[in-house]
Order: sequence, then C-alpha cells, then structure tokens
Amino acid sequence: MSPRDVIVIGGGPAGSTVATFLREAGKSVLVLEREHFPRFHIGESLLPYNTRLFREMGILDGVRALGSVRKLGARFTTSNGERSTRVRFSDGHFNEEGESFQVERAPFDAMLLRHAEAKGAEILEGVRVSDYAIERDHVRVITDKGTHEARFLIDATGVANFTGRREGLSKIHPTLRKVAIFGHFQDVPLPEGEEAGDIVIVRLQREWAWLIPLPEGRVSVGIVSDRSAVSGADPSAHFEGVVASSTYLRGILGRSRRMGELRVLTDYSYRNRTFASERLLRVGDAAGFIDPIFSSGVYLAMLSGRDGARAVISALERNRPMVPAMRRYGKRLGAQMNRYQKLIELFHTRPFIELLFEEESPFRLRCAVNSLLAGRLDVPWAVRWRLRLFYFLVRVQARFGLVPPLPLSG
Ligand SMILES: Cc1cc2nc3c(=O)[nH]c(=O)nc-3n(C[C@H](O)[C@H](O)[C@H](O)COP(=O)(O)OP(=O)(O)OC[C@H]3O[C@@H](n4cnc5c(N)ncnc54)[C@H](O)[C@@H]3O)c2cc1C
Repeated sequence: MSPRDVIVIGGGPAGSTVATFLREAGKSVLVLEREHFPRFHIGESLLPYNTRLFREMGILDGVRALGSVRKLGARFTTSNGERSTRVRFSDGHFNEEGESFQVERAPFDAMLLRHAEAKGAEILEGVRVSDYAIERDHVRVITDKGTHEARFLIDATGVANFTGRREGLSKIHPTLRKVAIFGHFQDVPLPEGEEAGDIVIVRLQREWAWLIPLPEGRVSVGIVSDRSAVSGADPSAHFEGVVASSTYLRGILGRSRRMGELRVLTDYSYRNRTFASERLLRVGDAAGFIDPIFSSGVYLAMLSGRDGARAVISALERNRPMVPAMRRYGKRLGAQMNRYQKLIELFHTRPFIELLFEEESPFRLRCAVNSLLAGRLDVPWAVRWRLRLFYFLVRVQARFGLVPPLPLSG
C-alpha cells in the first residue's frame, strides 16, 4: 500500500484543523488520537478572530448548533469587586471581528474531528502513538495497535508535546509555572443582557480566576496560582481558600452548586526550540503553550493548524523534506506567540493591570490592546506603535504612578 501523505498525531483543534486543510488540498491524511471523542478538555473561551477561521472552514453554523454562548467581551474585576473594566470587542476600532463563543470543549472538539473526517481524513481513535522515526524519504509512526508510514509527520499532541520532548526541544518559561484548579458550576449569577456571554477575569493579589458562561446555564470556574503556592496543599482546600479570600468570588459563588469534582492541571508555559524540521512539523500546544489568561490557546492551535497545513502542502508539492514555507511557518508562529507572551507577562504585573483598568486612554491605546485580545495578529503599524507606547507607559506607571494604585486583595 502506498504511504499516505501525512500522519497527524492528536485530534484536538490543531490536529483536526491541519487535517481539514490538508484534505481540502487533496492530500491523504491519517489522524491518530489516543482518546475516544467526545472527551473532556479545558479551554472553553474563544477569541473573535477564531470566528474567521470557522467561516473559512465552513463550520460557523456547526459551532452555533452546539448551543455555544455568544461572547461579546471580557470583564476584568478586582478581588474585592470594587473596580472592574470591560473590553467590548466591537469597540476595538482596529478589530474586524467583534464577537466570539464560549464552548463546551468535548462536543466542540468532536465536531472539529468529525468535520475533518467528513473532508476525507482517516481518523483512528483509541490509538496511542509510542514512537516515530524520520527516514530519508518517509516517516514511520509506531502505535499500540500497529505501524503506519507517511511522507510527513505533524505533531498535534498538545502539551504532551510528544516529539518535542523526545528531541529535548522544550524550554519552560522561567516565571509562568502555574497550577489551575477548575470545575463546572450551576447557579452562578453572572451579568445579564449584552454582557451575559462575557468571560469574567478576577485579578487577586497572587492568583487570577476565570468565570466562563457555558451552554445550559453552566459556568466554568478556575483559579490559577503559582505552583509554589499550591505544592503540598489539597487542591480543593486551596480552591476554597482562594474563593474565601475574595469578596467578589465569595459573593458570586456563594449560592452556586459544583457539578462533579474539581480538576487540577499544571500549566507550565513552554515552547519548543523549533517548530519545523525535515518531514516534521509541530502545531498548536505541541509547538508551545502560553498561559491561558487571554484565551489564545484554541485560536493559536487552529491558526497554526491552517498555516502548518499550507507549509506541508508546499513541501509535498515540491517533493522536498524541508521547504522555505516550513521555516516561514515556524518564524511566524514564534512571532504570534511572542505577541501574547509579552501581554501575559505584563498581566502578572501590577502597573499593567492599573493601566488596563483606566477606561479613558489617549490615542486609542486601549483599542490597540483590545485588538490583540480579540486575536488580531496581522498587527498593522497603527496598532504596533500604540502597543509600544502602552508598554512604555506600563514602565512609567511602575516608576512614577501615572494612575492611582489598584487594590488587588480583599
Ligand atoms: C487551565 C487552562 C485553561 C485554558 N483555557 C483556555 C481558554 O479559555 N481558551 C482557549 O482558547 N484555550 C485555553 N486553554 C488552552 C487550550 O486548551 C489549548 O491551547 C488547546 O486545547 C490546544 O489544542 P491542541 O489541539 O494543540 O491540543 P489538545 O486540544 O490538547 O489536543 C491534543 C490531542 O492529542 C492527543 N494525544 C496526545 N498524545 C498522544 C499520543 N501519544 N498518541 C495519540 N494521541 C495523543 C490528546 O489525547 C489530545 O486529544 C487553556 C489551557 C489550560 C491549561
């Protein structure tokens, strides 16, 4: 049997997207996924620019049909609930996409995988990849159920980072070593009306928390802490302790009911040293994972899935193991990750939060931040200089206090 064009390991959003775009170009694809879908996954809040990809893939109606919640903005709140600010994506001025969705990942990921299958990708679920070899003219992938060959291998294994770990490529971010404790709740009195679908982000002294409205009245609630603050502690007790320490969280979760157990994930931000090498490309979290604060994960996974597919199509059509398009893919993805990483590193500092909470900003600086939060990554000059100025003002705020300090405890 002639080998397939591409084997994709992992059937999450990155793997499904890459398989879909490869199929659209007529390439043969095998997706190997260790779980059976639908399966639970965290990461429920999507960015407006993700909607563009849904349109491009012809799945926007499919996302809506899941009962996904319409998300028009993000509200940032202090721990005591006394100060808060809302980013409304359609006010972005530089944004071309004004709304997004909050999704339950199990049916969402399954819908993406079935879409790839409908496009002609061969999907094997319940198959765990255990080894691989990159040969001169093909790749070999070994699973618990047999061996497969193809001309290219795409690693979409998420934070399992299957090939990156084996090749010793992973570099962990020095400060973003976090633990997330989360669960689904009922009866959480989130805002209503136009804000009903917003993600709410609560900034505490050392932690931050998310509240994400999901279909059927459920709310995803998570607390992200430094690993050092949680190590040795009982995760449920830590979760309860953080909720009790925040007037806002205490109030909003006071009469809520938790559905099922809390889950715990260590979410070390990391990045592989390379995303592309001969006959091998990494997409989504398998390229690198950035702290989830700005909900960029699924968007970057799908964007890199699309762009990664284009790079591999170029290599397949030239019959070469490595082509400039693959190098360009790696460079572009690195730059896209840098944009979020910079914003995320700043989010963990007080001066950035203090300026973010100032709704009156000169020169439309806030709109520039808004466009990045919405997922605009083809950053035009009009946005770039504003972001630079905003970041400069964050440094000024740290030294001279342009705006009053923000209470983050209580
Ligand atoms: C606490 C937390 C909160 C988050 N919140 C958000 C959010 O609100 N919004 C957002 O956009 N993102 C969020 N993210 C990030 C988001 O979940 C990920 O970025 C996204 O799932 C990446 O998609 P992916 O396809 O790259 O990986 P995944 O979705 O993880 O898919 C990888 C797949 O590979 C399979 N696999 C792994 N190893 C093997 C193997 N050896 N053989 C076969 N199959 C294998 C796995 O079973 C899995 O299905 C969050 C992450 C964390 C940790």
